[in-house]
Amino acid sequence: MKTLEFIVPCYNEEAVLNIFYDTVSPILNSLDGIKASFIFVDDGSRDNTVNIIRQLAERDKTVKYISFSRNFGKESAMLAGLKMSTADYVGIIDADLQHSPELIPEMVKSVNEEGYDIAAARRTDRKGEAKLKSAFARGFYKLINRISDANIEEGAQDYRVMTRKVVNAIISMPEYNRFSKGIFSWVGFKTKWFEHENRERAAGKTKWSFWKLFAYAVDGIIGFSTAPLKISLFCGIVTSLVGFIYALYTIVKTLCFGPDVDGYPSLVCSVLIIGGLILISMGVVGEYVSRVYLEVKNRPNYIIDETNILPENIDNQSNSGNK
Ligand code: UDP
Ligand code: MG
Repeated sequence: MKTLEFIVPCYNEEAVLNIFYDTVSPILNSLDGIKASFIFVDDGSRDNTVNIIRQLAERDKTVKYISFSRNFGKESAMLAGLKMSTADYVGIIDADLQHSPELIPEMVKSVNEEGYDIAAARRTDRKGEAKLKSAFARGFYKLINRISDANIEEGAQDYRVMTRKVVNAIISMPEYNRFSKGIFSWVGFKTKWFEHENRERAAGKTKWSFWKLFAYAVDGIIGFSTAPLKISLFCGIVTSLVGFIYALYTIVKTLCFGPDVDGYPSLVCSVLIIGGLILISMGVVGEYVSRVYLEVKNRPNYIIDETNILPENIDNQSNSGNK
């Protein structure tokens, strides 16, 4: 009998958690020849989420849970779940039922019977999402696929079922700045894609503001590409070339026609442009340096406050950090 664990990252999900459990649990129990269970990861929720999870664990003895000491973000919650998992197959699903649970049997079948290593979901449309957010997301996928070595499917979600070897590969990536969409695609393996429609949250509201998504996109680009550094190098080369050509032109002009004292506006413009370019390049370098700084500090990705998984597992998982 194969085992399957579904990781559910939860941050302030009191409104939806019971509905989620009542909907998904029968689906997991109906899987043929597979013993399935949940790992709930409470990402430092400030509402009643952790109490609801405790109650679920009381009722259903197969439920494992981890509760963080504060909000560490969905990336950390998924990592904690993956590290705590022991099953042959591991899935990840959002708590808000936006990830169609009726896909689970098909997804499990493709890893269990059809020889795939990953069954992952991709949404086909962005209905019910703000226009600006959709346009921004589409632009982001185009850009990151052009400049990075990870090929990220547009609309790819964290909703997936993976075999143990994929999970081990993901855990073995030691970075502190985790951009899962990139990591999932970077590790490779045979993937089967499942398309499904975007749907409204069953209850509660989204935890992602526009700026949080923007920061996430920057993380993805910096984490999987060095193109921004090359772009600033390129801009530097182009502007200094223009400067040299202009200097040559001025020397020749002065020799032929004598000096002129005009040129105040062009001076101001070039100072502003060059100054701006220098600051932008420094900012780009700074983004990389700050990430190097965070990596070198080697802090753990999360701190566990409470869990019903054996304590010896916790010590060597969270406190050893990410290395
Ligand atoms: N989530 C989390 N930590 C966070 C933000 C979100 O664990 O800091 C969880 C959240 O509880 C949900 C999933 O990640 O299960 C997706 O979040 P959400 O539905 O808010 O994002 P959206 O679907 O709007 O992209
Ligand atoms: Mg959601």
